[in-house]
Amino acid sequence: MGSFLNCLAWRLAHGEAVSKGRSHCPACGHTLAARDLIPLFSWLLLRGRCRYCGGRISPRYPAAELVTALAYVSVAARYGLTLDALRGLVLLSLLIAASLVDLEEGWIPDRLVLAGIGAFVLLALPDAAPLAALGRGLFGALAVTLPLLALVLLADRLLGRETMGGGDIKLLFMLGLYFDWKLNLLLLIAACLLGLGLALILGRARPGAPFPFGPALAAAAWFVLLAGRGVLDWYLGLFF
Ligand SMILES: [Zn+2]
Repeated sequence: MGSFLNCLAWRLAHGEAVSKGRSHCPACGHTLAARDLIPLFSWLLLRGRCRYCGGRISPRYPAAELVTALAYVSVAARYGLTLDALRGLVLLSLLIAASLVDLEEGWIPDRLVLAGIGAFVLLALPDAAPLAALGRGLFGALAVTLPLLALVLLADRLLGRETMGGGDIKLLFMLGLYFDWKLNLLLLIAACLLGLGLALILGRARPGAPFPFGPALAAAAWFVLLAGRGVLDWYLGLFF
């Protein structure tokens, strides 16, 4: 799945057909053989270089493969073989692909957002009360997106520049469908903290510099999937 998401993100970012053609080196275009496509190991054995042209292969590819493996194992361990696990895995897969495009190109493909909305509707159908599940998701998504959208529009007007990309808000709406409004609020706070931390680590905290918020949203969604309910119970327990 990690290799597939790398490939999907690369093709979306470069406008190539998603389902056509064999994997090839982005530098020299040489078609890759099976031994070049073993997740993690091919990159390690080739020391991050293309076998055919010697061009450097970004460590982002093996990193994404590792993150995907960890995401899948952790969600399966947390939810078992359930519909909730499937929902979480579909969501995280789309978020990893969106993050890879965002890191490379600075935008988020609408097709991933639409796929997330479609999967949410499909996976609500087997629920005991499908309409209630759809309504809960929609309310959860709007509960964070609408106030944020109002805030962003206000800040844009006051500062005279774009403060948050439209792609980030669309992505937030899509992933908001998968959580109730309380978890969405926690997710937004976690994403802001993670985004700030990432910006500091990457040295991109200059005011006005565009920052890819997609990876922060993806990491926050992963955190909320695994620990969100526990964190909420602990926090509310401080007051009640
Ligand atoms: Zn090459």
